[in-house]
Amino acid sequence: MTLNKLERTLSIIKPDATRRNLVGSVVRMLEEADLSVIAQKRLHLSEGQARDFYAVHAERPFYASLVDFMTSGAVVVQVLEGEDAIARNREVMGATNPSEAKADTIRARHGISLEQNSVHGSDSASTAASEIAFFFSEVEIFPNPIQ
Ligand code: ATP
Ligand code: MG
Repeated sequence: MTLNKLERTLSIIKPDATRRNLVGSVVRMLEEADLSVIAQKRLHLSEGQARDFYAVHAERPFYASLVDFMTSGAVVVQVLEGEDAIARNREVMGATNPSEAKADTIRARHGISLEQNSVHGSDSASTAASEIAFFFSEVEIFPNPIQ
């Protein structure tokens, strides 16, 4: 029997969702997918933070608009933990474009547009590690980091 790997991933509930009071709904969907919220805080990103977080997209035509959107209201940043948490979270989030997302995913249920798609989730183990460190120090994460 192979045991699936216990992982952590970074999740962001984006401004379109916080504005519509959907934090509880998103957390419920994550928990129903066996993802545990082990750290969480509500922030208003500065332009510099949003630019740095999405630096990988700096050359893309949607970058400036994405930074504007991500600084347009509150976000909730979270560390999720669970078996195969990175892939599992991407699955419960649904496709980037809400109109292409499978039924019963967060983006199908709550996303407004390709840009205003309600949630972010790390896409690999290495981005999960760097994105968690971007927002959280070790003492903010309980229990302490996976050995
Ligand atoms: P995320 O990184 O937020 O989890 P993702 O990995 O599904 O989403 P990316 O390709 O990394 O999608 O794009 C990052 C974010 O940029 C998307 O979630 C969306 O908000 C926005 N975005 C992506 N493509 C476009 C586009 N063509 N037009 C407008 N916004 C876009
Ligand atoms: Mg991405």
